[in-house]
Amino acid sequence: MATGELKENRDQPDNSDDPLLGDEPKKHRAKRGVPSGLWLRCDDCGETVFRKTVAENMSVCPVCGYHMYLSAADRIRYLLDEGTFEEWDGNLMPADPLEFFDKKAYAERVVSEQKRTGLRDAALTGTGMIRARRVAVGVTDSAFIMGSMGSVVGERLARLIERATEQDLPLVIVSGSGGGARMHEGILSLMQMAKVSAALARYDEAGGLFISVLTNPTMGGVAASFASLGDLVFAEPKALIGFAGPRTIKATIRLELPEGFQRSEFLLAHGYIDRIVKRADMKSEIARTIDYCGK
Ligand SMILES: [Zn+2]
Repeated sequence: MATGELKENRDQPDNSDDPLLGDEPKKHRAKRGVPSGLWLRCDDCGETVFRKTVAENMSVCPVCGYHMYLSAADRIRYLLDEGTFEEWDGNLMPADPLEFFDKKAYAERVVSEQKRTGLRDAALTGTGMIRARRVAVGVTDSAFIMGSMGSVVGERLARLIERATEQDLPLVIVSGSGGGARMHEGILSLMQMAKVSAALARYDEAGGLFISVLTNPTMGGVAASFASLGDLVFAEPKALIGFAGPRTIKATIRLELPEGFQRSEFLLAHGYIDRIVKRADMKSEIARTIDYCGK
């Protein structure tokens, strides 16, 4: 599938029932009398900004530089050279082995998420060029059941990594997953962590270069598996990255958490990530890194 055919999705992800993120207090309440179509409010600085200006700026706040939500399709568009994306394993569809039901049936939830996002599941994978360098590329999208990793996300990433190994391609995976493992698929989603990590170990033994790009949010089982296993780990500014959410940790340890806890800048200062890269610079930085590593 070419990038152009991917459905546009500019809807903000709904994390209200996210066990990790849903408990975060909303910083800014919706301002009365502001039409929602033309304007949007920055989650970080609280400024009301023109939606079109934000869209033209790769969904980065023109006032404070905050990196807002970006769909998987847009990520692919901004990361790869125009028209070079070829999707892999786009036919994989989620199943419902547990006939899981929470607020609604998982099978129904999947269909409504597919309609809303234009994705089959929370990951897009394939190959394309970054400034004329061929790469294997994967993106997870927090708009699809919080970007959680079920069987399809795990399988698509594992196959992506295996093809990258066979074809000796640099591997770039951009994580935007607030949900971690997908509870709706029970143990089948948990085993994806091990499966993807094992594929990465074989890729590593074969001498591959894996650049993991963490975006807001990267949490739970995704942070605890492939997202943290990059030879190099890049993060967008101010992204929330961690395992359990800050409120859960605070309630458990009953201590004040340090300022900026679980944000990119804090994690860079403490050695968990290698570099903070602005969205506008990501493509060039990855291309430069591939060259630097001789891939
Ligand atoms: Zn802002």
